[in-house]
Amino acid sequence: MADPLLPPGVADLTAFAVPSGIVPTVPGVLAGAAPTAPVAPRGSAPTWPGTAPQVGDLGWRAAPVSAPEGDAANYYFLSGPAVVREPVPQIPDSHEVFDVNAVRADFPILRETVNGKPLIWFDNAATTQKPQAVIDRLAHFYAHENSNIHRAAHELAARATDAYEDARDTVRRFINASKSEQVIFARGTTEAINLVAYAWGGKHLGPGDEIVITHLEHHANIVPWQLLSQKTGAVLKVAPVDDAGNLLLGAFEDLLGPRTKLVAATHVSNALGTVTPVHKIVELGHRYGARVLIDGAQSIPHIPIDVQALGADFFVFSGHKIFGPTGIGVLYGTEEALEETPPWQGGGNMIADVTLERALYQGIPNKFEAGTGNIADAVGLGEALRYVEKVGIERIAAYEHALLEYATPLLGDIPGVRLVGTAEEKASVLSFVLAGHEPLEVGKALNSEGIAVRAGHHCAQPILRRLGLEATVRPSFAFYNTYDEIDVFIRAVRRIAEGG
Ligand code: PMP
Repeated sequence: MADPLLPPGVADLTAFAVPSGIVPTVPGVLAGAAPTAPVAPRGSAPTWPGTAPQVGDLGWRAAPVSAPEGDAANYYFLSGPAVVREPVPQIPDSHEVFDVNAVRADFPILRETVNGKPLIWFDNAATTQKPQAVIDRLAHFYAHENSNIHRAAHELAARATDAYEDARDTVRRFINASKSEQVIFARGTTEAINLVAYAWGGKHLGPGDEIVITHLEHHANIVPWQLLSQKTGAVLKVAPVDDAGNLLLGAFEDLLGPRTKLVAATHVSNALGTVTPVHKIVELGHRYGARVLIDGAQSIPHIPIDVQALGADFFVFSGHKIFGPTGIGVLYGTEEALEETPPWQGGGNMIADVTLERALYQGIPNKFEAGTGNIADAVGLGEALRYVEKVGIERIAAYEHALLEYATPLLGDIPGVRLVGTAEEKASVLSFVLAGHEPLEVGKALNSEGIAVRAGHHCAQPILRRLGLEATVRPSFAFYNTYDEIDVFIRAVRRIAEGG
């Protein structure tokens, strides 16, 4: 039966009835009492016209039950003459052709020295550096726009909301989603995967259902599925790789069957650099009726992403891996997949209407964005993506590929070096071990030369153990790295190998 309190024009809301036994007793409101009208905080302007009963002792003004349609229900309302705003800094359009020196000039941190040597940042798979445009955008936000977003009737809320929603639309454009509502802001890849596991998985998986992942996964795409399996009785299956780190597609398909409900696979392995055949993975997953999640944490800065062409149900990535801020990331989903996913956190912003007995939720994306989000860093992520668009992701991919092709044989030729991960298709990552030297020791020795690499298990212990290792040294490239830097790095590894 239709909820009489469902505001007209706010469609597709999922109602959640709080069991009457756990309704808090508040003075003036009886537990289990008939639902009251939506309420607005004391002193706030009623946003919905009409009248409704007062919620006596709470001292709140009850707002009426009809709501404006669509977005107007979520956002600020400003009318009147346009307000003159401080112009948002523009990214200089200096990248008509790919010029690595011009690009490097955009990243102030690349002018740092470490141990008296120019910094060589080869730790891009862990996190990337930020261009001045992103740094300036964050400063501009806090200097001129900072406010909480959505419901408010003042200028700064309008500015902040515009900036935040503009960032959402920039993400949409960057990954070619059809609607910006399909872009959910999360803390990062890890949170986005946990959201899907907890909310989608919690609803759709039961005992004996199957989740298929690959042996290449980052812990962020393993542990949430283990937790989900423990909770639901679902079974976690793992597709194998060969010794070079190629996914064995035939074996992957053999794992799929009528009980497969979810496939979760990385696009690029952070430990080995393997690029997986994601189109094939999505196609096979769908052939068996499963939903497919692609972990794009390592592909987003290196490979053009078109989520519509890819066809995955969920695609996730982190802002900090693509020259944006930490603490912000994205869950993209098809409308169908997101609509069938219940909210995972409750609170402000994700609701359309709350009484003490039940809540009505917003539609996507707000349904998944409870509470005050990371507004400024979402804006910073939007700017990072605009920056990458200006440089050109295709040009970035081609240049990085050339760097990897240049470095791989040079490193492999050093006596004692074992390259770890030699898949046919790779991006950015050049993992290795050096005979007689612990990875950590190599990492420290490189640091003394100003070279930053990661040394350890890279949060991907299963794949390293599959290859008989506990840790590797992992240089990883971005488009601001140079052939000269690779030469410096190769000379340094050679010296370490020779005991110099
Ligand atoms: N997946 C992959 C493939 C990754 O490389 C990473 C980060 N190293 C993650 C997931 C987790 O990303 P975050 O820590 O930004 O949530």
